[in-house]
Amino acid sequence: QLYNQVQDLKGTIRVYCRVRPFLPGQSSRQSAVDYIGENGNIMIVNPLKNGKEARKVFSFNKVFGSNVTQEQIYVDTQPLVRSVLDGYNVCIFAYGQTGSGKTYTMSGPDLTSEETWGVNYRALRDLFQISKTRGDVIKYEVGVQMIEIYNEQLNGLNVPDASWIPVSSTQDVLDLMKIGHRNRAVGATALNERSSRSHSVLTVHVYGKELVSGSILKGCLHLVDLAGSERVDKSEAVGERLKEAQHINRSLSALGDVISALAQKSPHVPYRNSKLTQVLQDSLGGHAKTLMFVHINPELNSTGETISTLKFAERVA
Ligand code: ADP
Ligand code: MG
Repeated sequence: QLYNQVQDLKGTIRVYCRVRPFLPGQSSRQSAVDYIGENGNIMIVNPLKNGKEARKVFSFNKVFGSNVTQEQIYVDTQPLVRSVLDGYNVCIFAYGQTGSGKTYTMSGPDLTSEETWGVNYRALRDLFQISKTRGDVIKYEVGVQMIEIYNEQLNGLNVPDASWIPVSSTQDVLDLMKIGHRNRAVGATALNERSSRSHSVLTVHVYGKELVSGSILKGCLHLVDLAGSERVDKSEAVGERLKEAQHINRSLSALGDVISALAQKSPHVPYRNSKLTQVLQDSLGGHAKTLMFVHINPELNSTGETISTLKFAERVA
């Protein structure tokens, strides 16, 4: 009842677009983003071979410019996150080419600084806080599960069988993340490389019991940092790299197919076409809520990828 304002979002799919700032050392002389309008519009510059430029406008629920802070991003995510405590299932995705800011949005650049925390940790902090304030009415239990989907194979990051682990604070979750990273016998660069080619899913299970009535509610939040959406040049990729690229392609288009079938209220939703959509099936469609962040790299030489990212996003919106 507390979060009635999100009731009307039930079953709908929201798409937010976030533009990454130019990074130190990148030439910001010309940006691929021409302007960001008030009503969720963004205009992209597309340099043509003949030296001219085309411009195209895309529309989303919201567009966040490069100066928008992690906190501001979370403000517009919070109602969805909180509805999990009322028993809803919610999926939040980060989509975009490698380097466009997916991990920044979901996790943040530096876990030791709360200021820069991304959606994941802000969501957990929020869930713990609200569940405490409701403690006289509902007793909540929270568990998390961290999985990675790589080449259509599912791996548990913290425990071999990907079971879920009870947690009672954001710190518990951060500690689990560290163990997860240690368990993978690869260096930071290799980890980063691989993480851009796998989907990582942090799932938060919430179980609540109303103290007076004894009734039970269950909610679940999936926080998904998707594999990089860039198209790989088929003539260059060989062996493992080609296989990875094909798996990523297939699973991202399967995700797009599922979300657009849901958006169009199609009677058939093709969940079975990828591991990712199978894993998330219970939380996509029905009474579940979906939010997709699509990420844009502002560099002009990324325009091709940017336009294909935005087309993907328009298809699911
Ligand atoms: P991806 O996960 O999509 O590959 P990252 O999140 O790793 O991309 O971002 C690439 C680089 O850009 C990182 O150095 C990250 O810290 C930086 N970055 C991304 N988004 C932002 C932002 N909104 N503000 C500042 N730096 C950002
Ligand atoms: Mg990343």
